[in-house]
Order: sequence, then C-alpha cells, then structure tokens
Amino acid sequence: MRYEGIVYRPPSEAESLIIQATIGCPHNKCAFCKMYRGVNFRIRSVAEIKEDLLMAKDYYGDWVKSVFFADGNTILMKTDQLVEILEYTKELFPKVERITMYGSAQYIALKTQEELNRINRAGLSRIHTGMESGDDEVLDLINKGTDSSKLIKAGVMVKNAGIELSEYIIVGVGGKKFTKQHALNSAKVLNEINPDFIRIRTIVPFPGTELYDMYKNGEFELLSPHEALREMKLFVENLNVTSYFYTDHVSNYCYANGKLPGAKNDIIDSIEKNLLIDESRFRKPYEGTL
Ligand code: SF4
Repeated sequence: MRYEGIVYRPPSEAESLIIQATIGCPHNKCAFCKMYRGVNFRIRSVAEIKEDLLMAKDYYGDWVKSVFFADGNTILMKTDQLVEILEYTKELFPKVERITMYGSAQYIALKTQEELNRINRAGLSRIHTGMESGDDEVLDLINKGTDSSKLIKAGVMVKNAGIELSEYIIVGVGGKKFTKQHALNSAKVLNEINPDFIRIRTIVPFPGTELYDMYKNGEFELLSPHEALREMKLFVENLNVTSYFYTDHVSNYCYANGKLPGAKNDIIDSIEKNLLIDESRFRKPYEGTL
C-alpha cells in the first residue's frame, strides 16, 4: 500500500485496512478543519487503487474484515469507479464485512438515489459524514458548503440506499453565540434523518484555520467545559432517534455512549455527573485534538 501525506480515519476504523482512493478533500474550506490544508485534491486512478488492494492482499491474505477508503469525500468519485473498486475489494477479500468512506452531504447529493443503491449493492456498507451542525447560521459560520435541507436530503438518500450512516456533530462549533440553536437544530435535523450512528466531537481551534483566527481576535467565543456539557445535554434531550450515540473522541469532556432512545437517561445522567466536576479539572477549551 502506498500512502501520501497524513492519513486520517475515524476512530471506529482503527482495525480497518486503509486504502487512499482520493488524496485530500475537494471542499477543503471548513473553517475549523486543518486536515488537508495545502493538499491539492485528486482522485487516484482505479488501476492505482486496485494495485494497492492487491498489495494488501499479498500482505494480509484474505483475512481483511473491514476496509476504509480514505481521504476526505471519496464518495465524490464517479459511480462506475466506486462500483469497480468496491466489487474488486469483495472479490479479493471474501471475508470482508464492512467497506466505508467519508462523504459530506454536498457530495452525496451529487448522486441519484439509484446510484447510491448501486454503490450499496457493490459493497459500500457505511458512510461517515461530518455534519458538524444542523443549524444554518452555524453551517455558514464554519463554511461547511451545505445547509440543513441538503443535510436531510443527503442523509435520507443514504439510509434509503441501505447504507449505514454515521453522522458527526461538533459540540461548541457555534461558540457561545449560537450554542442553543446549534443544539436544538442539530437534534432537529438528526431526527429527520435518524442515522445509524451519532458521534460527538468537541471543538478545538487549531492554528492555521479560520476558526482559530476568529477565536484569537475575539469574534468566536469558545464554550467553557460546563457550557459545552450543557449544550450536549440540550442536544441529547431533544433527540428523537433510534441511533447509537458515541462520544468516541479525546476532545470530549464526557464519556457517554448507548443506543437511543433507551440509553437517553443514562447519557444525560453521565453528562450531569460531569457537570458536578469543577471546571478547572477539565482540559483547557483551546487545548486538545479534534
Ligand atoms: S471537515 Fe471534511 S469537508 Fe470540511 S474541509 Fe475537512 S475534510 Fe473537507
């Protein structure tokens, strides 16, 4: 396998074979994201991707159970190309149980429902989507390149195609100004989609991003740990979904996981317990990782 630059993957893909089908991110403009800054986006040729898959087969044999096609927004590839690499993956690794990739709503929306159905039949089992917020003002603030109606449309299409959907929400990404509407509208959008997974991250401003500049010049006010926990509580209280809820990231101030709706009270209890801890005992809001 050949890798270019820093390779990112969701924590849940820690045991997956990672193959870079694309390099960088075609959007590359989210105000908080530093992952692919300075990287020119390109799609690798199907021949190159297949060569990497063959290298993996030589190395691991046919024991591969899950495959993640990096980098950002691999769903943007042409449907015929995606189908070819997905079918080849299943052929090379007959024991594969899960094939996943990143896909933002704006790129999912470029596919028709029939194309997504076809991609699922070819083997794509899960899409990881950075929704970040369901609030239009926050989506504008972070330059996400989409709005709440497109988030819902793309999410519903993925679900209708039979592809599992993992949606990522960033606590505090609207700062103090939008905290309430970020919590309420994110829950509202997710209630419309009912994704398979909701995964929580907490905002950390990174040098080299627009959000960091806004934070430094006072335009963006970070939530304190307790404010972030209260935002998360309001968000969870307003969720009406049957999704798995995970705080599977070191940026978070609270560990609270479970299957909704049954686990809702336990998740809220965990948040409330963390609210009893003095704020000085949490990491500083500007120190951490996203
Ligand atoms: S958050 Fe996702 S879509 Fe936005 S720039 Fe980063 S990789 Fe691209």
